[in-house]
Amino acid sequence: MDHAEIRMLDLAVAIADHTARSDVECYARIASNPIGQTRYDLSQAQDVPGDEVVAQRAAEYIRLRGDILPYKLVCVDETVFFEDVRSCRVCGCTDGQACPGGCSWVGPDLCSACVDEAQED
Ligand SMILES: [Zn+2]
Ligand SMILES: [Zn+2]
Repeated sequence: MDHAEIRMLDLAVAIADHTARSDVECYARIASNPIGQTRYDLSQAQDVPGDEVVAQRAAEYIRLRGDILPYKLVCVDETVFFEDVRSCRVCGCTDGQACPGGCSWVGPDLCSACVDEAQED
């Protein structure tokens, strides 16, 4: 694969990551949210492809991608909700996926590997 192909693949994966979350948000039933946090009910499994199946597949995709995603899928009983993961505004690294060689937080959304780059802006 050349660089252009790898970029296309990265883009496709990034779109899939984004779509998986919105699939759950669109297709899962919204469960009660006792503390003002939207929860999605994935428990309504059906044999025929339907809305819930789309949501369950999307949730499974999210589980498989795990740490790499810019958000976290949290399960509570039969429902799930999303938590945004802290990420660097310059490079997009997260606690689960640090920069090559390692980095640490120097600001709410800035990592140590990107300090110089952020100051040049
Ligand atoms: Zn960074
Ligand atoms: Zn970093």
